[in-house]
Amino acid sequence: MKASTTHAYQQCINPACAAVFGCDEVHFECPQCGDLLDIGYDWDKIPLPKTLSDFGKRWATRNNRLDFSGVWRFRELLDFCPDACKVSVGEGQTLLQQCCGLAAELGMNPTCLFLQYEGMNPSGSFKDNGMTAAFSHAAMVGAKASACASTGNTSAAMALYAHACGLKATVFIGQGKIAFGKLSQSMDYGAQTIQIEGDFDDCMRQVQDVCRRLNIYLVNSLNPFRLEGQKTIMLRIIEQLGWQVPDWIVAPGGNLGNSSAFGKAFMELKQLGLIDRIPRLAIINAAGANTLTELYNDKHLRWNNGHTDDAAIAAYYKGLDASGYRPHTIASAIEISRPVNLKKCLRALDVCKGVVRSVTDEEILDAKAQIGKYGLGCEPASAV
Ligand SMILES: [Zn+2]
Repeated sequence: MKASTTHAYQQCINPACAAVFGCDEVHFECPQCGDLLDIGYDWDKIPLPKTLSDFGKRWATRNNRLDFSGVWRFRELLDFCPDACKVSVGEGQTLLQQCCGLAAELGMNPTCLFLQYEGMNPSGSFKDNGMTAAFSHAAMVGAKASACASTGNTSAAMALYAHACGLKATVFIGQGKIAFGKLSQSMDYGAQTIQIEGDFDDCMRQVQDVCRRLNIYLVNSLNPFRLEGQKTIMLRIIEQLGWQVPDWIVAPGGNLGNSSAFGKAFMELKQLGLIDRIPRLAIINAAGANTLTELYNDKHLRWNNGHTDDAAIAAYYKGLDASGYRPHTIASAIEISRPVNLKKCLRALDVCKGVVRSVTDEEILDAKAQIGKYGLGCEPASAV
């Protein structure tokens, strides 16, 4: 396999618009209709392997920094920038841990439960999968500065990658709404912090405004390149199962970037004939931040080939505003009531015949304790 130059484009996810833009352009949303952007590929121009197991041959050449990376080892499947632009700090050396004891305790077949441990990434969270992709794009377009709104993990990952490729990094935080360990980590990497009067939603609005006016590269989850990197979490799971597809993927649902990326990964792999079946997807909300559960289970919102019922979504959010609703859960990383990637997540649920469930804070803490008992550190959002 030989890495190629870019054969990718950005496309609006709304089929009524479907506007297309080059990957050399920087947009935070579709400039024509404001909807989410998605990355598409001219697959026939990309030198894809015949089987997924061909990617495994790169373990033999891991002195090459891109073959070492658990993201770029699969680079033909996210071929949006030349190799010279790819920024890597050794992300994705993560572990799929078989948890026989935990499975037995839960009454499952002991050999059938695995936990994907993403805490082994350089900044300590799965966010590195997406940041390596976003900053590679930032490097490709010649960005000089980056910014994000964050409650924790995103800021640390952004600051690490910005530092690695010489970009300035600014973190926007809400008053008192930050995990201080993560904030100090991003300051170690040289990030500047701006505290906003308000909550995460206010931060998000301000950071977008500032990025637009000052031409700063925005790395929040509406950045479609980040999700391309997050696809590789699924590729590593398949790899660690001996290139077999699992029956189910169970993932926490917050801003819904991961579930969106996972669904896109399986959709593309099936389309390319690299897998013969698609696993089912279970997305788990915290009960105190359960927008997806309410929209999907109660209001029966569906992907509908991209023709989503936007009026129903708007009415739901209007209702949240009217009642002064604020999400609240111990799983602070997924304490989000307006998930940015909602529509892409609906596509993932469609592709994977998914289900959505909610769990209480009490159930989250019980699960965290059970996982910890069998030797894996797990924060509340993962315990979900
Ligand atoms: Zn559009």
